[in-house]
Amino acid sequence: MKNIAVIGSGTMGNGIAHTFAQFGYQVNLIDVNNEALERALTTISKNLDRQVSKGTITEADKANTLKNISNFTDMKAGVADADLIVEAATENLDLKLKIFKDLDSFAKPAAILASNTSSISITKIASVTNRGDKVIGMHFMNPVPVMKLVEVIRGYATSNETTAIVMELSTKLDKTPVEVNDYPGFVANRILMPMINEAIYTLYENVAGVSEIDTVMKLGMAHPMGPLQLADFIGLDVCLAILNVLHDGFGNPKYAPCPLLVNMVTAGNKGVKSGEGFYNYAKGVKDAVVANKFSK
Ligand code: NAD
Repeated sequence: MKNIAVIGSGTMGNGIAHTFAQFGYQVNLIDVNNEALERALTTISKNLDRQVSKGTITEADKANTLKNISNFTDMKAGVADADLIVEAATENLDLKLKIFKDLDSFAKPAAILASNTSSISITKIASVTNRGDKVIGMHFMNPVPVMKLVEVIRGYATSNETTAIVMELSTKLDKTPVEVNDYPGFVANRILMPMINEAIYTLYENVAGVSEIDTVMKLGMAHPMGPLQLADFIGLDVCLAILNVLHDGFGNPKYAPCPLLVNMVTAGNKGVKSGEGFYNYAKGVKDAVVANKFSK
C-alpha cells in the first residue's frame, strides 16, 4: 500500500488525506469542487502548524506531508494508481452508489474501496461493484489527525484478507482499529445517537435545561463534552439522518427521533455549521449563549 486516493475534501476528507500523507503515503485528494480542494489544503496546512507548535512534528515533517498530497477534480485520473481509495464524500446514498459504481470501473482490479460513511450500509455500497470482497468501511472520527479510533466495518461480502489489510494499515497510521459488522449505525453511532436523542427528549420533556443536561454528563460521566453540545458539533441534520437510518433499519420505535430535533432541523438550526443549535455560535465562541427558549 503506497498510493491512497481520498474522495471528498470536506471536514473528514482533509483530515484523512492529512493523516495518510503525514505517515508517508502518496495521497491524491479528489473533489468535484475546486474551492473545497483549496480550502482543504489551507486547513491541512493550519492543522500541521498546530502540530509543529505543539512539538509533535517538525517543520520538515510538515513540508513532507504537504508534498505527499496532490489535488484532483477528475476522479478517473485521481484513482488510477491507487491501492486504497477512501471515499469521504457527502453522506447521501445515491451519491455514494454512483461513486462506487464509477470507482469499480476506474480503479485497479486489486484496489480496496473503503467508505468513511457514518451510517450507510457497506453491504449496499458493495452491491453496486463487482468486488464486494474488497469493499469495506473505514470510519474515522473527527478531527481525524487527533482521534485514535478507526471503526472498520465488514460488509456481508468483505473478505478476511481485505479486513486484515485495513486493520494493519490503520495501526500504521498510529490509530486503533476496531472490527465491527455491518448493521445500522455500526457500533459508534448505534450507541452514541440514542444517547444524544435521549438528552434531547430530556430537554423536550423539561426535565432540565441545556447546560444542566450537558453538565450532568460532563461532570458525572466524565464525558469531555455534553451530548447536546456534541450534537451541535456533529450537526443536528446529521444526527437526525443517522437516527432515521437506525429507526428504518431496525423498525424499533426506541430509535424514533425526538420531535424537538425534527423541528430544529426543519427550522434550519443545525448546530455549529448554521450558527445555532442548542447553543448559539453567532459570535464564534465555542461555548457561548445557552438558548433558554427550550424551557416550557
Ligand atoms: P463535507 O460536507 O464536509 O464534505 C463532503 C465533500 O464531498 C465536499 O467537499 C463535496 O464537494 C465533496 N463531494 C460531493 N460529491 C462528490 C463527488 N462526486 N466526488 C468527489 N467529491 C464529492 O462532509 P464530511 O463531514 O466530511 O463527511 C464526509 C463523509 O464522512 C460522510 O459520509 C459522513 O457521514 C462521514 N463522517 C463524517 C463525520 C463528521 O464528523 N463530519 C464523522 C465520521 C464520518
